[in-house]
Amino acid sequence: MDDLTVYTAARIHTMDAGRPTGEAVAVANGRIVSVGTIESMRPWLRRYPYTVDDRYRDKILLPGFIDPHTHLRLSGTYMGLNYVGPIDSASPTGLRRGLPSRDAVLNQLRSLASEQADPREPVLAWGYDPASQDGHLDRDMLDSISDTVPLWVVAYAPHIIYCNSPMLELIGVDDQSVGHGIGRYPDGRLNGWFVETEATARAMRPVADRIYAEGFGRAAVDRMGAVAKAAGVTTTADLIWGIGGGFEQEWDDHAAAIEDGTFPLRIFMIPFEPALVRRHGDDMLEYLASKRAAGDDRLNTHGIKYVNDGSYPSMTLVMNEPGYLDEDMSHTGEVPWEDMVERMLPFWKAGIQIHSHANGDRTVDMTLDTLAELQRRHPRFDHRFTIEHYCLSNPAQARRLAALGGLASVNIYFVHFRAQLHADHGFGPDRSEATARLGSLERAGATFALHSDFNLVVTPLSPLLAAWCAVNRIGADGETVLAPGERISVDRALRAITVDAAHVLNRDDRLGSIEVGKYADFTVLDDDPYAVDPARLHLIDVADTVLNGEPQGS
Ligand SMILES: [Zn+2]
Repeated sequence: MDDLTVYTAARIHTMDAGRPTGEAVAVANGRIVSVGTIESMRPWLRRYPYTVDDRYRDKILLPGFIDPHTHLRLSGTYMGLNYVGPIDSASPTGLRRGLPSRDAVLNQLRSLASEQADPREPVLAWGYDPASQDGHLDRDMLDSISDTVPLWVVAYAPHIIYCNSPMLELIGVDDQSVGHGIGRYPDGRLNGWFVETEATARAMRPVADRIYAEGFGRAAVDRMGAVAKAAGVTTTADLIWGIGGGFEQEWDDHAAAIEDGTFPLRIFMIPFEPALVRRHGDDMLEYLASKRAAGDDRLNTHGIKYVNDGSYPSMTLVMNEPGYLDEDMSHTGEVPWEDMVERMLPFWKAGIQIHSHANGDRTVDMTLDTLAELQRRHPRFDHRFTIEHYCLSNPAQARRLAALGGLASVNIYFVHFRAQLHADHGFGPDRSEATARLGSLERAGATFALHSDFNLVVTPLSPLLAAWCAVNRIGADGETVLAPGERISVDRALRAITVDAAHVLNRDDRLGSIEVGKYADFTVLDDDPYAVDPARLHLIDVADTVLNGEPQGS
């Protein structure tokens, strides 16, 4: 064993419920050797050389935060396009201002189109948010901006792409075209919408070489790694591995960034099932096994990802009765549920953890039905089938999820940033208010984590802000408590960004708490989240992170 380094702190919260606090942690070879006090770890200190590092003596140490659902490489890529979103957004060149309304977005697109030197070259924009920017864009609206320069706008949650007529031509579709998710006006004309995976992939094709320019992936990884680290994150997972450049290129970009020391995180690459099947077909399980063997605990593959409905902010999720306020569900895409059990079964049987995206309560039902059928065909324990997002749900679904042995990885930010908006846009008051029912999950005994999905939905990346949302459930008005019985304790919320998030990634044997033998990953805070007023949880500053026992520097 290497010499020990002993980090002292004002307080250590271990997230090991049996030994919850300490004031010193000894590490060697990137692992935790002992946690407690200098006195309690004497049996180690008497036997091995050690140094005491007291740089964190006034700070609070927690296990490194885990955001178990992001898309760092992809989101770093979109950041290179023209931004038309509603909230201020971090970018390589500083903060980009949000645009308050659809008119502001259309004006922005008009000036971009007029500045286009080559009128055949499309204007590419990202970040549109139909709920907070006054409704969807469409073809006629965009044609009124320009009917010569192709306009291509991907929503903030990239479940919808909006195009004008010249762009439709470039994509190669016309009124006779068929395919899931190609939107139409009531009279049958194309309306310029491409909704969900199949259609958005089609709309992406003619512009892919512009969005994915040479070297974009590595730059995106570096950029977003720094954003996550600043929020205290030491581990994340990319839940759309395989669609943004290909499996090998995406893996290599992360590997190179880790090798060069520019990516201060652990990352687990979760393959997007349609891409994996398309690319690796019959040998998909062998491919994953080979990557698992090639990977390590900094970079590895984990699980398999399915997307089974649309997004919360773009109102493309699938709801149970009585449905959307405006009875307009034509843009929710279509999921071939009749095939889902067959699609999941090879992975389920191979012991590969399934992560299945479900935002709407109807989709949660379908997902639970699918899990029940998988259990009937091939019973498993500790399978950790995870519903991703779990935005609209009811208490019965929480109990059923727990009974089937499932987990939830929840986007809690929407409670604050979106729920009040969607009371009158799309979802209605009842389900909006009860967005992200963590209290119900806790009462049912289901394990859950909190994630950001950064930045494919209109929310920031900040685990402490996620915890604040979960504990307080304060709406966007800054005062209303939404569905108070769905609030959870500070301890539970902090577990959901550390050890329970590690459980969701099937790494709680080595990550997520400060315990002997685990990796020495810490998040260093200026204030104690157990001691501050819970209403100020999100205002605690992240001072540093420690990865593998190494301070990463603030
Ligand atoms: Zn996602």
